[in-house]
Amino acid sequence: MLAYRRTHILLSLSIQFTNRHFSAASSHSPLSSLPRSLSLGQTKQAHARLITAGLGADTQLMGPLIAALAHSPSAPSEYCHAVFHSIQNPRVFLANNTIRCFAKSESPRESVGLYAFMRRSGLQPNNYTFTFLLQSCSNALALVEGIQVHAHVVKIGFGEDVFVRNGLVQFYCACCKIECAKKVFDESPQCRDVVTWNVMLGGYVRDGQIGLVEKLFGEMPERDVISWSLMIMGYVQNGKLEEGLQSFKEMREKGLVPNEAILVTVLSASAQLGLLDQGRLVHSVISSCNFPLSVPIGTGLIDMYAKCGCIDQAKVVFNAMPEKDVCSWNAMICGLAAHGLGMEALSLFERFTSEGFCPVNVTFVGVLNACSRTGLVSKGQHYFKMMSENYGIEPEMEHYGCMVDLLGRAGLVPEAMDLIEKISIQPDPVLWTTLLGACKIHGLVELGEQIGNKLIQLDPTHDGNYVQLAGIYAKARKWADVVRIRRLMVDRRANKVAGWSLIEAQGRLHRFVAGDKGHERYPEIYKMLQIIGKRIGEGGYMPNVSPVMHDIEEEEKENAIKEHSERLAIAFGFLVTACGDCIRIVKNLRVCGDCHDFSKAVSKVFMREIIVRDGSRFHHFKEGNCSCLDYW
Ligand code: ZN
Ligand code: ZN
Repeated sequence: MLAYRRTHILLSLSIQFTNRHFSAASSHSPLSSLPRSLSLGQTKQAHARLITAGLGADTQLMGPLIAALAHSPSAPSEYCHAVFHSIQNPRVFLANNTIRCFAKSESPRESVGLYAFMRRSGLQPNNYTFTFLLQSCSNALALVEGIQVHAHVVKIGFGEDVFVRNGLVQFYCACCKIECAKKVFDESPQCRDVVTWNVMLGGYVRDGQIGLVEKLFGEMPERDVISWSLMIMGYVQNGKLEEGLQSFKEMREKGLVPNEAILVTVLSASAQLGLLDQGRLVHSVISSCNFPLSVPIGTGLIDMYAKCGCIDQAKVVFNAMPEKDVCSWNAMICGLAAHGLGMEALSLFERFTSEGFCPVNVTFVGVLNACSRTGLVSKGQHYFKMMSENYGIEPEMEHYGCMVDLLGRAGLVPEAMDLIEKISIQPDPVLWTTLLGACKIHGLVELGEQIGNKLIQLDPTHDGNYVQLAGIYAKARKWADVVRIRRLMVDRRANKVAGWSLIEAQGRLHRFVAGDKGHERYPEIYKMLQIIGKRIGEGGYMPNVSPVMHDIEEEEKENAIKEHSERLAIAFGFLVTACGDCIRIVKNLRVCGDCHDFSKAVSKVFMREIIVRDGSRFHHFKEGNCSCLDYW
């Protein structure tokens, strides 16, 4: 009778779940058609039916039920624990699943207590017990308990089980004991699978040891998508962006389909490098694999298009996203601001708050940037105040940077100085550098002198400060001071950061430095530069030599700026792009005044759009004008 009732109730349970969850039911056992994971509500419902049928303490029935619950993303450990203790002679299967629930819970350490209980009541653990126990110790970062578990693994004889070994490597990596993890990894080379390698690889990635990641990746007997994703992530997180993109290419050549993590990572690498072709390629991979426009992918695409100079495309993605989170909005607001579309950024921010989202500090970086790029001084001050008063966000150095830029742009240099002096922590020298730039633009020689000298004291090795100060003197035609500052710079051997410009063409990156003759097509490039110079000269362009030091001969001065890296990149762009195509360049330093004029002239005379991304913003050169309105 009991056997009949048990079968009957199991069948009815599984039919109920089958109807709801499965299209095809397997029929060899009623239990096998229970869904793989159950919600707490469903479990309780089933549990209640078992109790009313008098089968509540049946370990054979409760085991699979708890196992299905343990598969769900958030397993309620107290409930499992209570069920475990309600059963008189629990089996190891039930114990393991209860430990598994603990591993996922807020209190993973509890599973060690359960294990101790198991041992006391004579319940023999198996390899799953240790796998779940080690998972718990990893999640709890319980080093001492984990080491004890390791001892039991060896003592009870599961040291050669690959799942348990993977758990051990994972546990030591999670607890930042990379050396111990490597020791376990090396101990039994015959007892490894692709997961073991991936776990070790992940440990090195998290530890930032990119050299060891590369080495291990090279030694792997087989690699799956996870291995590639770890390698690519390792490169990108360590700033080796080009290597990351190269790995992505190799992975695709092997015919592997990327996962979401890889796509988001390579989108970020393309964005950081400003490589539109590369970014577009990733987008086409996303479309061809039919990846849904999830929040991470959509946000990655917005960021990539914005940072690669295609703000319109970023808007298309933003509007197409079915679901957005704060990061998606931030990417769009910051993107609009970086492109000088301040009003649009602010109205998007208003929409963002009216839809009930709560801004975070990055949102305000975008908002304040939008105000500063559009010259909205009082609006900027309003948002700066709103940030701390309405949202309780303490301004960080970046927010101060935006405010200093905002005030400096408007010529309110003394107000900006006031603000910097009010900052409670040591202000970043970048704030003073920003202000120095403002002094130069507004011709404030005395203030500039004061700030410039302060900066040189703060950071005597930073070349840019000397150049800016010398620029201020040059603008005021104080040539003796220009010479003095220049000598000071040479004497102190300031580090000169080499300027470079990057252009993407025919699937390759081409990097130029000033006066570069390293490119295989350099004779053509210089010839093209001459032609461009001649044409824009006829169009009325005159080289402006004032930012260059006074003690260079006039002609030399002209030559020195004629060969700045972005000009070589532009000339190369003329060689490799079709007539009328936009030329996109990424530059690491600020664009100099003369190259800015040069680019404007080229955009007018040749009717070419040129988009330059420099250290902090975009310059869209079109029909002789620039989107930055000549303030940068
Ligand atoms: Zn230049
Ligand atoms: Zn500009």
